[in-house]
Amino acid sequence: MAWFAGYPREKIEWYPTIDPEKCVECGMCMNCGQKVYKWTEDGPVVNQPYKCTVGCTTCATLCRGNAISFPDKKALRQLYQKERIWTKVKKELTEEGRLKVED
Ligand code: SF4
Ligand code: SF4
Repeated sequence: MAWFAGYPREKIEWYPTIDPEKCVECGMCMNCGQKVYKWTEDGPVVNQPYKCTVGCTTCATLCRGNAISFPDKKALRQLYQKERIWTKVKKELTEEGRLKVED
């Protein structure tokens, strides 16, 4: 299950942006398991932005140049509320038996 419950990933504006002025080419962003970044002769670029896991900020946390930023989480939370994504995710998890909560 995609954890945003079938909502088109391309409609969710969540992916990293690199400030090249701050990047110290430490390479930590290349550790992303989703292969969002690609290394070039000028350092890293965001190559596959929509492979970024929605809500993840791991690369920004580990970036040694503090060069990676993400959109405001508030907008993401508002989208989830508007599109009822939380409700759909909960329903799918419950149906899969991975979540047992009382209503
Ligand atoms: S983790 Fe940050 S500083 Fe390091 S290469 Fe990636 S963008 Fe540059
Ligand atoms: S936020 Fe997470 S999934 Fe997205 S690029 Fe960074 S490490 Fe990869």
